[in-house]
Amino acid sequence: MSSTKGQVIRCKAAVAWEAGKPLVIEEVEVAPPQENEVRIKILFTSLCHTDVYFWEAKGQTPMFPRIYGHEAGGIVESVGPGVTDLAPGDKVLPVFTGECRECRHCKSEESNMCDLLRINTDRGVMLADGKSRFTIDGNPIYHFLGTSTFSEYTVCHVGSVAKINPDAPLDKVCVLSCGISTGLGATLNVAKPKKGHSVAIFGLGAVGLAAAEGARLSGASKIIGVDLNTSRFEQAKKFGCTDFVNPKDHDKPVQQVIAEMTGGGVDRSVECTGSVQAMISAFECVHDGWGVAVLVGVPNKDDAFKTHPVNFLNERTLKGTFFGNYKPRTDLPSVVEKYMNKELEVEKFITHSVPFSEINKAFEIMLRGEGLRCIIRMED
Ligand code: NAD
Ligand code: ZN
Repeated sequence: MSSTKGQVIRCKAAVAWEAGKPLVIEEVEVAPPQENEVRIKILFTSLCHTDVYFWEAKGQTPMFPRIYGHEAGGIVESVGPGVTDLAPGDKVLPVFTGECRECRHCKSEESNMCDLLRINTDRGVMLADGKSRFTIDGNPIYHFLGTSTFSEYTVCHVGSVAKINPDAPLDKVCVLSCGISTGLGATLNVAKPKKGHSVAIFGLGAVGLAAAEGARLSGASKIIGVDLNTSRFEQAKKFGCTDFVNPKDHDKPVQQVIAEMTGGGVDRSVECTGSVQAMISAFECVHDGWGVAVLVGVPNKDDAFKTHPVNFLNERTLKGTFFGNYKPRTDLPSVVEKYMNKELEVEKFITHSVPFSEINKAFEIMLRGEGLRCIIRMED
């Protein structure tokens, strides 16, 4: 691998030229990593709904041409100046948010909102020099979330890269680099249900089902799955959901349906849809006096959350989280260990797999609301 160190690498990447149009596999140039950056050979990547929102650019700022992708696993090819804790050959997961280890957030036990590397959906360039590492015939292509994993090689800031167990199978653990850890952590680290609690999960995609898994591991006795797509319900039973509500089946608001099912409201709720209406329902369905709601879904840029202030006065708590409050470099390796120790199953989240040349199929599957995660294999 060292033969490519310091050189521009030419490789294939799936470029989004226009909002909502199929990605095009192009030959791109990937510049060598600069100060505090690493270049990674991506082996497996998968699609999360966040990629789809920004590619559709209906409720988000358009930025094209761009290379999407942020849920992935790979091997470090080379490192830039100043990088001491990663080396070529390391097995890594790139993460959409980072950990500089120097700012107040990184030093706080409570926060993973690093000042330098927290999620920034509107930045399409690298921090070191404000430039892109990707070009086609010298013309820059924007990065996405500091990861851009729909490319055979990508460049990331070292703070957004977690070094993991070298024995971990990347075709499985790649899904831990975003969705599964996010949902699991939203429940275990933020909602923190107690044994015997009731928990409502809004949105039964991979993120919501990982949140349900967290509720099951916490000993919740009732886990209510809420989704507009009834075909999600059967699968959700495997993730611990005990009851189901489709808001479309009721004339009254779903928060009222849930309050009636639970004697006044659930103890905890976790919203994993991206719909602001579901966010409001997730908050209003928790029990007064002690209920806690956690928002995970990525809203549209112009959304506003509206509820009556008395819902707060009645001692309900509303929280939100990125990446389930995990610090990517410090905590993600231990989530991978949960998989290695068989405490956490990831196979059941992986419902589809396609070669890189068919990456657009992964988008079609997600848009049809089928399956959970589609693994994109870079090498065949
Ligand atoms: P997904 O599309 O697989 O699942 C979303 C589910 O929500 C679907 O089953 C859909 O039918 C359902 N849904 C949509 N609107 C609904 C509504 N109003 N009421 C009930 N159900 C509704 O998506 P995913 O990949 O699991 O991601 C889920 C959300 O989490 C997305 O918004 C994504 O952007 C977000 N996300 C956030 C973070 C974070 O760190 N906060 C990380 C990853 C993903
Ligand atoms: Zn930091």
